[in-house]
Amino acid sequence: MDLTLLGTSGAYPTQGDACSGYLVQSKHTNILIDCGSGVFSYLQKIVDFNNLDAVFISHMHPDHFIDLIAMRYAMRYSEFKDRLNVYVPKSAIRYLHQLSSSLSDTKPFFEQSFNLQEYDQRQYSFGDISIQPFRVEHSVLSHGMKVSHDNKTLVYSSDTKICDSLRHNLHNVDVFLSENALGGGAPIHKPINHLFSSEAGELAESSNVKKLVLTHFWATSDRELCRQEASSEFSGEIIIGEQGLTISI
Ligand SMILES: [Zn+2]
Ligand SMILES: [Zn+2]
Repeated sequence: MDLTLLGTSGAYPTQGDACSGYLVQSKHTNILIDCGSGVFSYLQKIVDFNNLDAVFISHMHPDHFIDLIAMRYAMRYSEFKDRLNVYVPKSAIRYLHQLSSSLSDTKPFFEQSFNLQEYDQRQYSFGDISIQPFRVEHSVLSHGMKVSHDNKTLVYSSDTKICDSLRHNLHNVDVFLSENALGGGAPIHKPINHLFSSEAGELAESSNVKKLVLTHFWATSDRELCRQEASSEFSGEIIIGEQGLTISI
């Protein structure tokens, strides 16, 4: 499968980059994980949104979901026939209804275009790709995602501080796509709800991960310094994420 980074900025989209959005593709299946600020524009460079099989939202912070609004408008005014399967965390549908009631008199707002469903920690399958959310530890309910295809596995950290469930799910995976919002000289906001680059490296090393891909950079972070910090803990390959980068897994 291919993983394409649609955005690698944390909190807000920086110049020429979007927030979190990760497209996972096999020959016949397209799954979008997260749809943060700026993601929907870039997504359309890579794939026709009519061909998405599902969208999974890791948690309800705007840098991970807010472009669902743009996507909803695009589908509302396009030839899109079927509603798109959009999977969100527990209690998020009520939250989206509250949000949409402030945006528009149209009811239901999102459901015109989306089949909204709240996921649990089961495995979901779409064509030849399966995806399993698992709970991580952040300031709000947040889920990492384990994605499998043809005996290859990708784990996405979502936003999280270091936690046992992430470590448990990382065992022997091919690619670890990790946030590192606290790396590279980023300001440290307390309480800590994110990962340092060195922690991403330590998780990768102790779990025997083959490749570490760093993403969700703070705007002022020095990305090369992030690499150095991660490499102080991890001896395997480290890729510094950038918008448009595709990694074959
Ligand atoms: Zn975030
Ligand atoms: Zn967050």
